[in-house]
Amino acid sequence: MSPQPHIHFIATGGTIAMRIDPATGGAVPALTGAELTAAVPGLQLIGQVDVEEFANIPSEHMQPEFWLRLARRIQQIIAQGDTDGIVILHGTDIMEETAFFLDVTVPTPMPIVFTGAMRSASDPKADGPANILDAAAVAASLDARERGVLIVMHGDIHSARRVTKIDTSAVDAFESIMPPDLGTVRSGLVEFSAAWSPRVHVPLPAQLPRVDIITMYAGVDDFALRGALERGAAGLVIAGVGAGNVNQALFEGVNHALAAGIPVVISSRVPFGGAQPLYSYAGGGMALRRAGAIFAHDLSPQKARVLLMVALGAQYDQRGLEELFV
Ligand code: ASP
Repeated sequence: MSPQPHIHFIATGGTIAMRIDPATGGAVPALTGAELTAAVPGLQLIGQVDVEEFANIPSEHMQPEFWLRLARRIQQIIAQGDTDGIVILHGTDIMEETAFFLDVTVPTPMPIVFTGAMRSASDPKADGPANILDAAAVAASLDARERGVLIVMHGDIHSARRVTKIDTSAVDAFESIMPPDLGTVRSGLVEFSAAWSPRVHVPLPAQLPRVDIITMYAGVDDFALRGALERGAAGLVIAGVGAGNVNQALFEGVNHALAAGIPVVISSRVPFGGAQPLYSYAGGGMALRRAGAIFAHDLSPQKARVLLMVALGAQYDQRGLEELFV
């Protein structure tokens, strides 16, 4: 390892790279990663920094194809052997999905740290510069090695598997679900307090198949579920209610999908507690389990979808999937 850590930034866009467009009054992509990092005082004191302009998109425009390209690029950087940590600048809306995708597909001890901003660069109280500085401090920290992909926002360090965005507008917009945040970064001091969270690895597939999330709500029918199958979904994730329960219509839909050989993973709309098979009435979690559905446990619907896409892309069968969703 070099005396001064080498931190490689990959800019992909998001609010952190936006400014208010005077014509519309709304934020739009405006700044490169090089411009963003150049504007952060003290960054060069943390390490030797280089910046790669990968994209400049709002994260809603993120596509699975982009995830594959990003993972391959990071594999290349790791193989070159001259980088100590990677910081990815990314929109906050989809950040947890991209971060979890890399957590699953890129096994490396090297810190891979996501950050972004809740306020655009036009805001007098923009949070981007401080988040960049914090993320760089974590990426340069030896203590951050072997901890999987991380999200650093507002001075808190989260693991990609556990973190979710819980606030649409506050600068402290992210929270770790079961267990609490991994640690903090305050004035450049990186401190990990919680234990390492479980990590699964699936080899990076060449392609990612279609997987849809079907949400349970009062009175829902099987229209969206069957529509997903007609569009060629190779797997389904159910965002159930409570511990992962659905009504009769979705229960029938799930049975139909399973009979057609389409794997179904049960997660919950509820952020805390995880999905568990508890009830055996039609649509209850135990009945879904008995029908052959797999439980996502701690994974949110959007994270369960990422894992199912990767696993199906890597040709996992039903048994392999069951071992993966532990
Ligand atoms: N809509 C923005 C995005 O995800 C939000 C953000 O970056 O905070 O790209």
